[in-house]
Amino acid sequence: MGYNMYVWRFVDEEPAPMDETAIREVLGPVTVGGLPPTGLPEAWDLEAEDGSGSEVYGDALGLTFSRFAFGGILDHVAALVRRTGAGVMPQDCPMILTSETARGHLPESWRAEAIVVAPEALTGRTIQLLISPQPEPRRRPILPRFPYHPNPVATGSVTTSDELCACCGQERGWVYTGPLYAADAPDSGICPYCIAFGKAAERYDATFADGIEGDVPDDVVTAVLRRTPGFPARRSPYWLAHCGDGAEFLGFAGAEELERYPDAVEHLRRQWPDEHVDGFLTALDKDGGPTAYLFRCRVCATHLAYADVT
Ligand SMILES: [Zn+2]
Ligand SMILES: [Zn+2]
Repeated sequence: MGYNMYVWRFVDEEPAPMDETAIREVLGPVTVGGLPPTGLPEAWDLEAEDGSGSEVYGDALGLTFSRFAFGGILDHVAALVRRTGAGVMPQDCPMILTSETARGHLPESWRAEAIVVAPEALTGRTIQLLISPQPEPRRRPILPRFPYHPNPVATGSVTTSDELCACCGQERGWVYTGPLYAADAPDSGICPYCIAFGKAAERYDATFADGIEGDVPDDVVTAVLRRTPGFPARRSPYWLAHCGDGAEFLGFAGAEELERYPDAVEHLRRQWPDEHVDGFLTALDKDGGPTAYLFRCRVCATHLAYADVT
């Protein structure tokens, strides 16, 4: 690239010589044709083990690396900086140093923005990231707590999104992807906060599941149907209840997943007390076809399930 990178050492704001032996030891092995027995050439070519290269010119008072590539050659530049206590300054970037002392020796106008890293943290990649930063993976806010659907990200009902929520108009970083039952459902996604706070249910007169099986208090019915992310089911999804409370939805399960939950299998068997039940159970598949919906009682921890009836 038509772009330079400078390695300098400063003492009392003035360039000071770097140890020439260190320069020779670090750059000599990757110098094309080798370095002369003494002194440094005016300009020379480097080629690292991975084929990445650079041109170098200057002297112990300052080296300029030009036409360099991203790759192993930057590790050699980093090694040179570590060995000599110098700093490296890619064009248009702040200087990277390996000690606060070195920062104190910089020309005053450079000090504030210089970046000090521990010597072991100064690698070719550190330099590369300064020149060409990678976008940080976006940090997303913590989801509200859903007592009846504890991990809606794992079940796939909530997923990351940079879109605005149709209900609150805010970009929350998450979107609900499960079913929404309402006469006047929004065209685009709503956020899980609008579900948790009851805002979406109120605004659209919506529920997120079709019903709840079993006797539970009204406030549980409201919490499950109107303030809990639902999940898609082949037929209309409903919630299970146990011990007088709504159960928590754990996710989709096939025959393989159900092996770990004999109590859920027992619960399924009671729903199909005929000779076809075994064949039916082995045909269950987490990813499609007849699927089981796995729950756990919030009181006694018994696993429960129901399944698509073929
Ligand atoms: Zn919202
Ligand atoms: Zn129970």
